[in-house]
Parts: sequence; C-alpha cells; structure tokens
Amino acid sequence: MERLPEILNAFEQALELERELGTRTVECDRALLAPRSGGTPLPPAGTPRSGGTPLPPAGTPRSGERTVLVGEAASRRFTGTTGVSPVATPALPTAAELTACTRCDLHGLGRTHVVPGQGNANGPDFMFVGEAPGADEDRQGLAFVGAAGQFLTKMITAMGYTRDQVFIANICKCRPPNNRTPSPPEMAACVPYLKRQIALVKPKCLILLGNTAMRGLFPDAFFRRGQWQTYEGIPAIGTFHPAYILRFDSARDPAGLRKAKLEVWDTLKLALARLGKKPPEIKKKGQTT
Ligand code: URA
Repeated sequence: MERLPEILNAFEQALELERELGTRTVECDRALLAPRSGGTPLPPAGTPRSGGTPLPPAGTPRSGERTVLVGEAASRRFTGTTGVSPVATPALPTAAELTACTRCDLHGLGRTHVVPGQGNANGPDFMFVGEAPGADEDRQGLAFVGAAGQFLTKMITAMGYTRDQVFIANICKCRPPNNRTPSPPEMAACVPYLKRQIALVKPKCLILLGNTAMRGLFPDAFFRRGQWQTYEGIPAIGTFHPAYILRFDSARDPAGLRKAKLEVWDTLKLALARLGKKPPEIKKKGQTT
C-alpha cells in the first residue's frame, strides 16, 4: 500500500474527468482524511478486501444528526404500562449482543472485535452497506476504517456529507479469516442483524457496496449495479465495493480505474437525485465565494 496517496487521489481524478467532460462535479480535498471528531483516527493503509427505471425523488429534508456508536448503544429498551408485563422492543444490535452471537462459525475463527456499524442512526439520508470487517475494522471494532474505508469517506464527502451524517454497516459483523468473502450461510446468519439496523435506523436510501452486499440483502433478486430496488419500502441501489476500485490502482490499470470511478460517481449522483439532492457545487480555481 505504498501507493496509497496515489490511490486516495482516485476519486478526485474521476471528478476531474467529469469537469473535463463539462458536467457537474464536486470538490474533494485531502482534509477528509483527517481524524473524525470524537472518534478513532483513521489508520494508515490497511489491507483492503476485497442500471432500471428511476423512481421519483423521496424529497425529504436532511435529517437531524444524532450520531451513535452502535457498539456503545444502550441495550434493550422496554415499553409497557403499569401492571402490564413490559414488552421488549427491538434495539440496535450492540457489540455485547454480537459478541455473544454463535449463529455462524465466524465467532470462532479468529476475530478480535465484532463490528456492528456506526453513524447517524436517526433516519439518515443514506446507509452504506459493505461486506464484512477487514483487518483494521476487526482491530478497532468500527466499519470501514481501513484503505477501503478511506475511499468510502471520499465518496461520502463528494456527495456533500460527513461519515457521521450517514450510517455505515456490513452484511457480516465479524471478520472472515484472511478477508475471504463470507459464505452464504454466514451471510444468511448475520443479515437479520443488518435488517434490524435498517428497520431501526430508517435510512432514506440504501447504497450497497459490492456483490456481497447486494446478494446479502436481495438473495432472490437479480440486482444490477446502478439499478433501483426497494427494500421494505426503502430505495436501494448498488455500486462497486471501494476495495474493488482500489484494486485497479494496484493493478496499474488507469483506464479501468477511471471507468469504475465514473460508474460509482454516476450511481452516487442517482442516489442523491432520488432524495431530490445534488452534489455540492465546486469552486472554480481562484474563486473565493
Ligand atoms: N470492507 C467491508 O466490506 N467492510 C468494512 O467495514 C471494511 C472493508
């Protein structure tokens, strides 16, 4: 990963190409690699793991920004009235709950931390769903904090958001050994946790990163990148996993890299448009306001 700075320019280059082509583009700067306030600083490079009919815009305003670290979220909440047995209402899966989980083999295959996911759990515009934690995520207990996570941060920033304004989660909450793709039984065992997160977080739009995320949430659908699906009434769209994009750079394939980045950016713009939003305007060189 000695070429990480170069790789991290990947998104800017795609945006630059859009500018050359005369379409709207957005500003990205290196400041977004700065540590998140109140959170764990992003580590240096880690090992990355690895179209339809547009629906009308949901047009809802950007939500409040209560941010939770789900691993530290309160445990079960109860509702009920005096004299009546309390009725358990579902809560976001906590690190404690997930640590005790034995629904699949991953709990015994060398994971350090479970990774529930984190971010704005209060009706964010977007929830990003990846595959499973990698080495950095496993070490920190946080989703998308390695090299792929840094690229995801660039995607989020290009859309005009911060990581804390969206929710970031994975299909599987435990790291598979050697970053292998989770098996279908592992995905099936873990996806109910993600479904619970979606039901409670209530994102306005789901962005599924890579085939595992698309297959995990829509096992029976023919899910194509850039085409809309609906999950429980929530619009969902899929695109490349950030680690897939980084691979073009490792393979020294600038043309492939550029093409993949442009496809991702087109999908992110579709997602913004679905909520009636546009990417932030970019400042032209020398422009002060
Ligand atoms: N890749 C994923 O799919 N998820 C992470 O959290 C990190 C890398």
